[in-house]
Amino acid sequence: MNRSLSRGDTAVDVVIVGAGLAGLTAARELESAGAAVLVIEAQDRVGGRTMARRVAGTTVELGGQWIGPGQRRIGALARDLGVETFPTHLPGRTVFCEGGRRSEYEEDGEIPFSDPAALREVEEAFGALGKLARGVPADAPWRAKNAAELDGQTLETWKLGHELSSGARFYFDLAVESLYACEPRDVSLLGVLADVASSGSFEGLFEIEASAEEYRFVGGAQEISVRLAEGLEGRVVLDSPARRIVQEGGAVLVESVRASVRAGAVIVTVPPALRGRIEYVPALGPRHDGLSQRMPMGAVIKCHAVYGTPFWRETGLNGRAESDTGPCKVTCDNSFPEDSVGVLTGFILGSDAREWGRRERGEREEAVLECFARYFGEKALDTLGYAETDWGAEVYSRGGYAGVPTPGMLLDHGPALQEPVGRIYWAGAETSSEWSGYMEGAVESGERAAREVLSDLSGVVPRREAPVSDVDDLSQRKLAQGYTHRG
Ligand SMILES: Cc1cc2nc3c(=O)[nH]c(=O)nc-3n(C[C@H](O)[C@H](O)[C@H](O)COP(=O)(O)OP(=O)(O)OC[C@H]3O[C@@H](n4cnc5c(N)ncnc54)[C@H](O)[C@@H]3O)c2cc1C
Repeated sequence: MNRSLSRGDTAVDVVIVGAGLAGLTAARELESAGAAVLVIEAQDRVGGRTMARRVAGTTVELGGQWIGPGQRRIGALARDLGVETFPTHLPGRTVFCEGGRRSEYEEDGEIPFSDPAALREVEEAFGALGKLARGVPADAPWRAKNAAELDGQTLETWKLGHELSSGARFYFDLAVESLYACEPRDVSLLGVLADVASSGSFEGLFEIEASAEEYRFVGGAQEISVRLAEGLEGRVVLDSPARRIVQEGGAVLVESVRASVRAGAVIVTVPPALRGRIEYVPALGPRHDGLSQRMPMGAVIKCHAVYGTPFWRETGLNGRAESDTGPCKVTCDNSFPEDSVGVLTGFILGSDAREWGRRERGEREEAVLECFARYFGEKALDTLGYAETDWGAEVYSRGGYAGVPTPGMLLDHGPALQEPVGRIYWAGAETSSEWSGYMEGAVESGERAAREVLSDLSGVVPRREAPVSDVDDLSQRKLAQGYTHRG
């Protein structure tokens, strides 16, 4: 090591790496407890995997957006910051496409599988997952009695152990892709059961009413991070990827592109797969280092078309489609109630996202709009605007919605999700045992990491004034100008 700690550009009590919901929540908690904090963010905006953009006069949500019952932290935080919620648009029929056959069904009606037995098979499969999850502690799934057996399987191998008809297999796969942005073969059964244990039921994760998709935020979910950052009054440094974290003499030095900061502790909030892109001195042990190699991000391209009106509502459709043919196998009505324009959003997921991510944007747009036209009619080709985000191409996310627990990961590396390494603490949606991978999990993790730091370092870290003026100019100007949206 050729840089001594005393040569850091500035000093605070706690540095936070990442200005997403987890990092900004942690910073807010610490600051309100009297600690001097500095948030180091790689990008030119805050919000991480929540991101909004104006397209054709309306807001489109490029990243995380829905919350639901049981997600009390994110709801409370938003209320506190004056960000209101509104119910997701529900009324109308859902389009269902299977084997070249297009049909429609009411939200409280039965899914019109071509083989009616498929519905019962799907319900039984989801119910069986719910039952299996009862033996799994959400906060430490690796402690489940049969953890090795469960973590030794993927959801695909579990599914193949059940006799499902082709219609049931399609719908099961679609549910998994919608939830994890990966294929059933990519995800550990134990990982899924931990999520079910923390949220109540498998169905509850992807149904809309009384589920994780029941509400949206006025102005978009990124607004929460924007307001958190404003509340931190300039203690957020943008455009400054953290490159190296050095622990020495009971303190840490966080080296980033635009600032080196000395602190009593650092909270790293990037997704596990991105932890490994930061250099640690001394190196992390195999349990922590292995985690960053064993929890890859899902793959999703979220696509939006803006129309003069939400025309699908005129024919009694709710904008939702479920289909065995892509590129967007799942869609929703993503219009904001205060706008007259309509927004259809489609998801390209898992393997499809990797394949379509290699194509030209124009080719993708054409295919997405044709897909919308198959579901909702020719009017879907007549757009006011189009926007998409391939999260796999976002350098500081590398995928989405979240990190995917692969087989064996929880058993061998699960504790490393949260376990501190000296003065390095970990937060981020994936580290939460409640709604892991969701905005709720991100907020919970930020609160938890802040508590850990305050408890471990109480009386150890001398309070210092954070000399923000040493650190930044540009990032604070950007925040002052509200420069938080892309495009
Ligand atoms: C398309 C999509 C749809 C989703 N839908 C939903 C939904 O409807 N509901 C829901 O609850 N959740 C949803 N999610 C997930 C949700 O958005 C995330 O769980 C949550 O926003 C994660 O917050 P976080 O703070 O843990 O991580 P992030 O938001 O990823 O924040 C990490 C921050 O660290 C920064 N960073 C990375 N590397 C460095 C570095 N080296 N130095 C400094 N900074 C760095 C990043 O730029 C980022 O700002 C979705 C995600 C995606 C992508």
